[in-house]
Amino acid sequence: MLPVSNSLINGKPYIDDAATLVEIIDPSTEEVASHLAEANAKTVDLAAKAARQAFKAWSTMGTDNRNDILYAIHDRLVVEAQSLAQIEARTTGLPVRNLAALIRRTAANFRSFAEFASSLSGESYLQNPDFLTYVTREPKGVAALISPWNAPLALSSMRIATCIAFGNTCVLKPSEYTPQSVLRMVELMHEAGLPEGVVNVVNGRGTVTGSALVDHPEVDMVGFTGGTMTGRAIMAAAGRRLKPSIMELGGKSAAIVCADADFDRAIDGTLAGIYANNGQQCLGGSRILVERRVADHFISEFVRRTRAIKLGDPLDPSTEMGPLAYRAHRDRVLSYLDAATNEGAEVLCGGGRPQGLERGWYVEPIAVLAKDNASRVCQEEIFGPFATFLIFDSLDEAISIANASDFGLVAYVWTASLDAAMRCSREIRAGTIWINTPMMRELRAPFGGYKDSGTGRDGASSSADFFTELKTTSIPL
Ligand code: NAD
Repeated sequence: MLPVSNSLINGKPYIDDAATLVEIIDPSTEEVASHLAEANAKTVDLAAKAARQAFKAWSTMGTDNRNDILYAIHDRLVVEAQSLAQIEARTTGLPVRNLAALIRRTAANFRSFAEFASSLSGESYLQNPDFLTYVTREPKGVAALISPWNAPLALSSMRIATCIAFGNTCVLKPSEYTPQSVLRMVELMHEAGLPEGVVNVVNGRGTVTGSALVDHPEVDMVGFTGGTMTGRAIMAAAGRRLKPSIMELGGKSAAIVCADADFDRAIDGTLAGIYANNGQQCLGGSRILVERRVADHFISEFVRRTRAIKLGDPLDPSTEMGPLAYRAHRDRVLSYLDAATNEGAEVLCGGGRPQGLERGWYVEPIAVLAKDNASRVCQEEIFGPFATFLIFDSLDEAISIANASDFGLVAYVWTASLDAAMRCSREIRAGTIWINTPMMRELRAPFGGYKDSGTGRDGASSSADFFTELKTTSIPL
């Protein structure tokens, strides 16, 4: 059994005597893999105060000194990539073969944002020759960073790196389903030289530990990644104390496949778009809109390839798809098969338990052909290996379907026409448009959602805006 996931305060493990133990289940075996010791209000208080205590020294140590530490963290995480990948695979069910890239990104976050923080420039105005006004950025203070279970290392590291690179300190609350890899990462950060108190971790459920953290008076801002409903509750709680928040929320993104698209690239890209990360990714292209002229051929090849996806133990390097993260999530994903059937959709493949995998929350990847975009399988975020096809006749229709959603996180467009691509980029209401490419994050560019997919942006200059205060100083010369 893995060790109990404690909290980490001032760089040291902490478990309150009265902490409740919460079971953590291994998604591949359905067995109790470990426990977390839930941080109660007292533990959250200690963590928030530790972050406040560390703030002064960290925020004033100078970018060069901070960056030396952030580069050392990058190097340490690169060395530990394999061991982190093993923990991430075992606890989330994500196939280990895909994790090398995610952990490279985890480490790269610390280097990239350190570099960006040291290149920030400011504004100055000379109103007349003897009167200067200049603008400086100051770290905002202590952040509560709350993250989901679907890609713990990549998502938590992005927020931690942006937060501390600009001189802030934080308390992180990872998902109660998958706390282990992030806890290990923060331990490694301390081994690489991170001073005590700059990054603290509290483990526990959202309604216990998470809400105590958001409400804590020492917390100045909230960075949240997770579901839209949770985001609404957290934003309301933060708003009561006028704490700024950044919200990276759910998605139901369109992948538009035009008849002139490169067929093989579009097949590869749409498969990765929905099924990578076991289908549990906010930026999944879960509504695949195919132009009628190529629809039969495209969908039948997509289904053939879907049936060939190899499910299995996430630690086996040949596995392409592991189990879903936890039982209730698996049940929820499967409930959409019934919804699809009731709404008159055609189930093309998937939904069964793969042969030979008697234990674990495995689901054969699903594809359905929906009747219309108003149906639940087209409107609700399923967050699993569940591809929903729709057929269109004109680009106007495709764009209008893409936009007929409460969400607006990303969109994918597959076409040989520059005009069609640029029209989609202009007219689709989503934060990121990927043209003829699967997901490709540029860490320096803003990332975030329109509509119910969130408010605010991650990425270099957007993160700088969120994690710093602007101060204007005027002085006669
Ligand atoms: P979730 O909203 O259930 O939980 C996310 C985190 O919030 C967890 O750590 C949870 O413990 C915590 N939490 C829950 N209630 C809380 C409360 N009242 N106060 C404080 N904290 C609380 O989401 P999830 O199921 O872990 O993750 C899946 C969701 O995350 C999907 O909707 C997915 O689209 C979204 N997501 C978005 C992005 C993005 O960048 N836009 C990235 C990854 C995942």
